[in-house]
Amino acid sequence: MSDQPTFSQFPLAPAIQEAIAEIGYVVPTPIQVQAIPVVLAGQDVMGAAQTGTGKTAGYGLPALQRVLRWANTSMSPARHPVRVLILAPTRELADQVNENLVKYARKTPLRVGVVYGGVDIRPQMDMLRRGVEVLTATPGRLLDHVEGKSVNLTQVEIVILDEADRMLDMGFLPDISRILNLLPKKRQNLMFSATFSPEIKNLAKNFLNHPVLVEVARENATAETVKQLVYRVHDSEKTDVLIDILKTYGEDGSPLKQVLVFVNSKLGCRRLTSTLKRVGIEAEAIHGDRTQEERLAALQDFKSGKCEVLVATDVAARGLDIAELPVVINYDVPFGAEDYVHRIGRTGRAGAKGVAIMLVTGGDSRLVSAIETLTKQKFDIEDLAPLPRNQRRRADSDRRAPRQQAWRDDDHEGRVRPDVPPARKVVYDPIFDAPYEPGELAASAVKQEIKKEPAASVRTAKKPTKVAALLGGCIRK
Ligand code: AMP
Repeated sequence: MSDQPTFSQFPLAPAIQEAIAEIGYVVPTPIQVQAIPVVLAGQDVMGAAQTGTGKTAGYGLPALQRVLRWANTSMSPARHPVRVLILAPTRELADQVNENLVKYARKTPLRVGVVYGGVDIRPQMDMLRRGVEVLTATPGRLLDHVEGKSVNLTQVEIVILDEADRMLDMGFLPDISRILNLLPKKRQNLMFSATFSPEIKNLAKNFLNHPVLVEVARENATAETVKQLVYRVHDSEKTDVLIDILKTYGEDGSPLKQVLVFVNSKLGCRRLTSTLKRVGIEAEAIHGDRTQEERLAALQDFKSGKCEVLVATDVAARGLDIAELPVVINYDVPFGAEDYVHRIGRTGRAGAKGVAIMLVTGGDSRLVSAIETLTKQKFDIEDLAPLPRNQRRRADSDRRAPRQQAWRDDDHEGRVRPDVPPARKVVYDPIFDAPYEPGELAASAVKQEIKKEPAASVRTAKKPTKVAALLGGCIRK
């Protein structure tokens, strides 16, 4: 007896069912169970989906099914207009969504493609001119193609805003409204967002027509499969603590592998990557200043295991999908509490277990409180100092030991590697643990407290955007 849902319960064509089976999906995720029938019925959807919940298939599979009636093998571009349009905030997410859709559609004649900025536009023009039924795009590059007349959006039947919250954060609302105005008024609208600000709710009100709310988690909750650990570290020891964690928090004190480390700035990203490389950790940087080719190459090296640590800014936080990523480390506390949700959503995907570690220093308290408020939890913050030097050397020589699985399932409920003495946990005492500098110490401790505070105000309150006005012709009643 089994009440478990299966994909065969959905009226999806055999070509799509076969593709799902080949990919290896057996049980639909909760968001898929909820979203697939609603999308198949042609209704608008507001998807409150956490990252890693399987939402791409949740909208992608039924969207393919709905336009499958148009599938044909004609060579004529006119027979392959865009029918499904997916808008995504970043190149990485667009690429990843497209990769999934290609797999889902591979047994159908539907053509699937992606366009995003930062790469040569000409191959994309060729692809669009040949015709593509399912198009994933970042808004800016799509508008470039509209201007270049390489794409015609008048046959779009389904439009999907993926990671809508991020698109608003990145200032894409005017671009989105321009794009929506180019689409037929009669269409199906789907919108997915991990977090729900009043702005997002406003956009949903205007963009969606009597939407069905599809929800798999509490609003703004963090992934339940992610174990969250927060360590208080001294500012000057943050990098050393990170290095200790990277070198010793793996199985039996071995180095961690496949770790995503988040930092707040491009400069910080570059610097930390160089420091890690200097101490023998294979690290790659991924941030907005790197070209698309460099970012994809770094991601590829990371996925293949050639590089163990990916140091990323928030630009890279969205859309990275690395199977069973075990550990995410917030080297910097994110400026925006919602970014925390997205960052740690890189682990614990689709039911896999993961660990999210965050290092906090004295000046981060406001940011940490904001995260606690948003995620409705109170962190149990522990003090952590770098390993003593002799243990650190041993960790270094152990790096050459054979690698094993980074985390066991049974570690998840307890503390991180409780049987391994990881980096030393202490109650940090600025008087006894710092070198004695007459007269300066107390002053510098106080300065540090004050110095960091303004960071909390880096994100100034946004002016409420007049969504309805921007959306012009597509306001719905
Ligand atoms: P998404 O939230 O769409 O980015 O999906 C997260 C990950 O879960 C991706 O690697 C998907 O391939 C995977 N996934 C999606 N649906 C399923 C499923 N039903 N069973 C197993 N894995 C899935």
